[in-house]
Amino acid sequence: MPLNACELEIDLFCRGMRLSGDAKLDGARSISRTRAGLGSGLEIVLPTGSPLKDRIWVNVPVEERFARESPYVLTGSPGDGYLVCDERTGQTYAVEIPLEPAWYAQSTTRGIPMHRIGVLQGTYLGIYVNMVCTFWNYDPPLNCRFCTTGQNVGENEAEDKAVSDVVETCRAAREQSGVTFVHLNAGFQGTRGVQFAEPYIRAIKDEVGMLVGAQLAPEKDFTKYDRLIGLGVDHLSFCVELLDAEWFARICPGKTKVLGQQIFLDSIEYCARRMPRGAVSGEIIAGLEPEEVTLKAIDWIASLGAFPTVCVFRPTVGSDMEDWPSPDYESMRRIMAHMYDACRRNWIPIGAAPNIEVSLVVNPDDAALLAPRTAGFYVYEGYRRLARLVARPIFARRMTPGVRRKAGARGEIPQGPASQGNRPGQISS
Ligand code: SF4
Repeated sequence: MPLNACELEIDLFCRGMRLSGDAKLDGARSISRTRAGLGSGLEIVLPTGSPLKDRIWVNVPVEERFARESPYVLTGSPGDGYLVCDERTGQTYAVEIPLEPAWYAQSTTRGIPMHRIGVLQGTYLGIYVNMVCTFWNYDPPLNCRFCTTGQNVGENEAEDKAVSDVVETCRAAREQSGVTFVHLNAGFQGTRGVQFAEPYIRAIKDEVGMLVGAQLAPEKDFTKYDRLIGLGVDHLSFCVELLDAEWFARICPGKTKVLGQQIFLDSIEYCARRMPRGAVSGEIIAGLEPEEVTLKAIDWIASLGAFPTVCVFRPTVGSDMEDWPSPDYESMRRIMAHMYDACRRNWIPIGAAPNIEVSLVVNPDDAALLAPRTAGFYVYEGYRRLARLVARPIFARRMTPGVRRKAGARGEIPQGPASQGNRPGQISS
């Protein structure tokens, strides 16, 4: 039996892919470790053949050790198209290879190539705005063990990104690639990270009019998030990574020693209370701590009205964990199915924002392809369709330069019945 597109996505995350000797990748997005943490692979697109979602974007591991032993092999060329063959079964899957956009080769007015300012990851633009995460500056370093940011910023990426560089790159991405969402990432910057991101958010909202997300290390003064919301930030995400306290301490020594795990949980809860449903996310890594703990983390995040962003652990080349095994497919499939179900049970309007496909994770709406076709599934899918329709003019307005959401406006997208005043679940890590 062939895998469906979401199952294939998960298996590619777990097993990686080899490139056949005659595969021609002319014009494809280059394979480089240009971002934090878990990204490093070849961007591909899987047509789904499903009315639920037509395409799934995947950043497939190709350079890691486990990928060299993958049963999946990519063949083809721009003219003939591409196939991924599973050598265990002989099953082939037609895939697309997205092209590198022309604006990657353009430079900002300060002379910095735009591909050193931001990169496409799926259909959104990722920009690491700050200096290198300061966890890398400790002796010994306190970086998260899966992360390679300290080796990328200043190497593959420009170290110093002026607001004008970021605005020009966002504008090019919007105009030439139809990008709607830019995600600003910053690592740990002491008590200055949120403040440092503010001018970028303000300028993008005022001058370009994209949807803006920020992924910043939490800071104790939560009123800073109120300021970001007032500036019009559309999405806030927090990388709690692991819920089990021992695993968190083992894999994230800087976060443990300098911040403590609780502030991540508190930040998610604080922001989820102030932003629309589905506008906040909690990021976790699946494949390290026990599966039942990951499921518990997913349930807790969704119970807040936030959505779980679940990364399949990738032992990225050059990271402290490069020799660790990649996760088991069956376990990841159960986790991703649970992620969709948690969103369904909590009426999270996943997939409502226009053209945001994240290639580094299994998007919650990708995982609709894993769900059993129960009555609850159809009711939720109907709700999601309605949410997309209602959200269209709301997002169009938010993407108008200079327009900001009113601070405190939470109920813009229709709320599902269970989400009316629902209480977050309890968590004990
Ligand atoms: S906080 Fe951790 S994952 Fe994020 S950039 Fe720093 S070391 Fe990397």
